[in-house]
Parts: sequence; C-alpha cells; structure tokens
Amino acid sequence: MPRPELAVRLAAHRQALLAAQRLRQRLTVEARDGVHCSVEGRRYLNFCSNDYLGLSEHPELRAAAQQALQRDGVGAGSAHLLAGHQREHAELEEAFAAWQDQPRALLFGSGYLANLGVVQGLLQPGDLCVQDKLNHACLLDGALLSGASLRRYPHADVEAAQRQLASAPDALALLATDGVFSMDGDLAPLAELAALAECERATLYIDDAHGGGVLGPQGRGSGAHCGLTAEQLPLQLFTLGKAFGSYGGVVVGRAELVEGLLQAARSYLFATALPPALAAASLAALQLIRGDEGAERRQRLQQRIEQFRRGAGELGLPLLPSTTAIQPLLLGSDGAALAAAEQLRQRGLWVPAIRPPTVPTGRSRLRISLSAKHRPADIERLLEGLALMQPGLGSREDEDATRDPRSGTREQRTNAGGGGME
Ligand SMILES: *Cc1c(COP(=O)(O)O)cnc(C)c1O
Repeated sequence: MPRPELAVRLAAHRQALLAAQRLRQRLTVEARDGVHCSVEGRRYLNFCSNDYLGLSEHPELRAAAQQALQRDGVGAGSAHLLAGHQREHAELEEAFAAWQDQPRALLFGSGYLANLGVVQGLLQPGDLCVQDKLNHACLLDGALLSGASLRRYPHADVEAAQRQLASAPDALALLATDGVFSMDGDLAPLAELAALAECERATLYIDDAHGGGVLGPQGRGSGAHCGLTAEQLPLQLFTLGKAFGSYGGVVVGRAELVEGLLQAARSYLFATALPPALAAASLAALQLIRGDEGAERRQRLQQRIEQFRRGAGELGLPLLPSTTAIQPLLLGSDGAALAAAEQLRQRGLWVPAIRPPTVPTGRSRLRISLSAKHRPADIERLLEGLALMQPGLGSREDEDATRDPRSGTREQRTNAGGGGME
C-alpha cells in the first residue's frame, strides 16, 4: 500500500466537517470597546467574551503593563529556570498565594499550558486520574500526556467518582474537576468532591478558569464560594485570560505540590516565561479583584445574571441551571444553534453557537456570556432578540435533552474552552 498523503486526509476531514456543518471559521474583530466590537464593518453587542468583570481594558491594567514594558521590554527572553523569572512574575505569584491563603503559587504561560503541566507533572503511569466528563479539554490532554489511567465520571456524579477511585485503592490518585463548567456554567459539587478526596486519600485539583475573580469572597473562586477551607484546596488553577482581563495561568496550593510542579511540569520547564508586562497587568487585576472595585463589579455582574435569567424564564427559553455569567440556551441540533446565532447576528447581537466536539452531540447551544460591563438595556436588547426567535426555539429537535440536562451521549471534547466565535 502506498504511504497515505497528509493533504488528502486533511481534505477529506475538511469535507466531512463541512457536510456536518462543523467547519470552524474565524472572524476578525476590527475594534473593541467594552461590550461592543466591530466585525466586517458592523458593530455588535458582544455576548461571547470571558472578560466577565470588564477588566481587559481597565486603565490600571493598561498602566501597569505600560510601565513594565518601558522598564523591562517585551519578551522575558528565556524560561523561568534560566534567566526568565523576573520581578513581575515573582510578585504575581506571591500575591496569588496570599490571596488564596496558600504557601505557594506558580505562573504558567497560559491556563492550557498549566493544565498540561499539572497533570503530566504530578502523575505517571500506574497512577489514577479521575475527572468529570465535562472537564475542559486541557485537563483531559494533561492526563493523556501523563500516562496515568484516566477515568471519567458522568457530569457532577460524585458517587460515580467514588466508585472510580475505589476501583484502584492502591493507586496514587488525582481527582480533577472544573470549578465552573465552561460550556454549562454550573458549579461542580465541590464540598462533596472535597469530602470524597479526603476519604479516598486523593488529591483534589480544581480548574477555576471561570470562577476565579468572579465567585466567592474577594473573588477567591468556586472553592471559597462553596465554603471550602484553604486546607481542603490543595491545588487550584486560575487562568488570567478571563475575569482577570490579562493572559496566563496561576497554579496555587501546597508547597510540596507547587515545588513538585516547578521540578517536573514540562510545559513550565521548557517554555519561555510570560512577558513581564502581562504579569504586571495581572497583578493590577488581582488588586482590583480583591478590593472594593472588584466587589462592585461582581455585584453588577450578579444583577445582570439575575435580570437575564428572570427575562429568559418569562420567555420560556431553554435555560440550564447555571447561576454564573455563563448562560447557555440548549437548542439540541447543530442547525438550530447555528440558525439562532445567525438571527441574533442580524440584529447586531453576537452570541456564539457551540457545537460538537466542544459539547456532546445533540446538545448544541447558544453560549451567552455576561459581563459587569453590560448595561441593563443591553440585556433587554438580547432578550428582545431571543423573544423574536421564540418560534424557532420552540421547534428544536432535541426536546429530551432539554428536559433532562444529563441525558445525551457524551463524546470526548477536543475543543472546549470558551467563547469560540463560531
Ligand atoms: C479557558 C480555559 C482554560 C484555558 O485557559 P487559557 O488561559 O485560555 O489557556 C482552562 N480551563 C478551563 C476550564 C477554561 O475555560
């Protein structure tokens, strides 16, 4: 048999995606201004962004980044363990550890790199990695890199997680979950998972990409929101590209775990340190998040979430049980989700349609992300747009999935993680 050709295989893959309405395309944002953005010459009200607190354009973040740029230049020049670990990185790690009341923190280049490094750095073949089926793609990828056995339990099913841990009582075990699920917006049952981890002597690892900055006292995240103590939170990830309005990922927790990662996480060891200006901007964001301004922004965000859920409930829209800034409307088929997004786009409302493999087959949806920067009138505009397409929503194909949010087949997500402009 002749050697297969890569170009032929890629063309076939592209054709299959096209036929299944799953071909992805980017749009170029020409200008951005708070919750508005311009695309192809048209201005949209943006419901795609994970900038939940509206910090990405905050003057204090800009000033911190600019000062660091002037002082230290742009690139860090090398990896942290060579000469790349600069003052801005060290200060950010210290501030994160203090905010979380934990001994140590470690700054990775991004949340994705952090999850690859955490799971690969902590686990090895023979170990057990137990994960929620709806965890973000990079937690799954980290487990694959580590060579540990990966067991995935049905979404939020603590008893199933218990059975999976108990099935290998002699294996070293990591129990990994998103704090807030990126496509559903619901919170993991963290109190139960923490109790389970303790009982099964597994290490609990929470990816709090969507909870950090937004939930809990001082924005300390899903764990704090659920009443977990510092003791019950051995290791957490906060990504800096969402509520922090910046870029990067910080892993915070017990000294021996963080030190272990510094020695073993390949995505830490072999990558250039983040530009120091981004670390400086992230530190400014953390200071805002801990302070009064963060509290005000969280309160405003909460009001918008309540306004949206009240209005959507009155319209009979297929809401999911999310209390966070991620408010999906479950439409079922890919076609229904794409058509709904297109109708909204025509009205100047930018809401992404999320399809497999980001979500399971039959659970395509609109993923609405709210921000503290949305005004009440913006939410009204969105609700008006949604009300107009009500007949379309009513005729969706996948009624069962709407009634039971846990039904439907689930496939491995290969492209999860947010706000894709599809
Ligand atoms: C966005 C996201 C990540 C990846 O973080 P980046 O900083 O964007 O690389 C990881 N986990 C979850 C749950 C996310 O939503």
